[in-house]
Amino acid sequence: MIQTKTTFTVYSPPTLVYGRHAFEEVGVQAKKLGTKALIVSDPIMDRLGFVDQCRALLKEQGVEAISYLGVTSEPVDTYVTEALDLLQQSSCDIILSLGGGSCIDTAKAVAVVATNGGYIGDYMNLKKVASEEPVPHIAIPTTAGTGSEATNATVITDTSNDIKMMIKQPAFMPNVAIVDPVLTLTSPPSITAATGIDALSHAVESYLSRLAHPYTDMLALSAMKLIVENMLAVYEDGDHIDAREAMALGSLQAGLAFSNASVALVHGMSRPIGALFHVPHGISNAMLLPAVLDYSKDTCVGRLADLGTFFNTEGLSMSQAELADFAIESIKVLCKKMDIGNLKDWGINEQAFYEAIPKMATDALASGSPGNNPKVPTHEELMELYKVAYHYEF
Ligand code: NAD
Repeated sequence: MIQTKTTFTVYSPPTLVYGRHAFEEVGVQAKKLGTKALIVSDPIMDRLGFVDQCRALLKEQGVEAISYLGVTSEPVDTYVTEALDLLQQSSCDIILSLGGGSCIDTAKAVAVVATNGGYIGDYMNLKKVASEEPVPHIAIPTTAGTGSEATNATVITDTSNDIKMMIKQPAFMPNVAIVDPVLTLTSPPSITAATGIDALSHAVESYLSRLAHPYTDMLALSAMKLIVENMLAVYEDGDHIDAREAMALGSLQAGLAFSNASVALVHGMSRPIGALFHVPHGISNAMLLPAVLDYSKDTCVGRLADLGTFFNTEGLSMSQAELADFAIESIKVLCKKMDIGNLKDWGINEQAFYEAIPKMATDALASGSPGNNPKVPTHEELMELYKVAYHYEF
């Protein structure tokens, strides 16, 4: 919309395998890339039997595997060091991530640091550029989702400075993404809601981004439609495989859209909340989305109206401005139906939150994401917006 360029480069995983039972392809894909795999996963994936299933599928194709199951929260730099040690000690030549965005992001960092060296934080803001080929990486998401399987970004917390680092370089893009909605069937409603709203935020933010272009618009529009039409269905009935399939595809498309058009103000503000108050990524996005859209609305009425049409299932006749308002109201209703409220309702102490606002505003601006928003806030305005979001009425 605000884009003045005429040429665009699109990054995506070279191989995308998606659809019901796509997971069964993992052995065949792995065999093309290596002989011994490090599976980066978590204890819940292990308990659900996904890790054993993965090992068996690899074994059928003659690929050996060991696993790192230490991802017990959103990823921190120490997971990267631990998993990297295991990769090197065990001479693995391929990495598989199996889980939500936390497992995928950990694996992305390991794949790059293994061949390019240094500390993962060195790669933030292109301070260090990964020039060597990373260890081949197959990403298998079990949430729908972060879309991380199809993005060139990883988000890792710097534990020394409490900063959730957003690190973006082409080298973080997985070689293969295997997106199987069957793997999301076990996701409980709270995780389904948080991850689904995350995917919606990706689609909306990439559609509104100053860096959006026709290719990302196509992906973002399709993702918004799929997610708006299926979000409540998967929340209310986790076994609804058709809706799970639509969400998995929507999340993949939203990931591709934002990886190429970038996220904006919601994500910029959300990461510091995650780093300091440990609110799950998707939930903090949801808590910020309507407030940020209210703030940005006057600069992107037409695009918000496009989002409004997906919610307007009754085909009510509305002006562009009314459709834009309807989009924001509909997101609020969706959040309410999925028990998502504001930051205060989440139980974050008001004094602690207000004290953290100056640092959060500084960290948000430093991430670069707010600069992609159709309306770019100053530090002062950003601090005010955090206060609005804290009390925002859903
Ligand atoms: P997550 O990976 O942290 O998983 C949340 C919980 O859900 C975990 O306990 C996990 O074990 C469980 N879980 C996952 N799949 C399940 C399933 N099928 N059944 C039952 N339980 C399941 O959550 P997430 O939202 O997928 O990822 C969040 C992380 O991703 C954050 O750190 C965020 O910053 C990052 N992220 C990265 C990108 C990117 O492009 N790199 C994009 C968005 C978000």
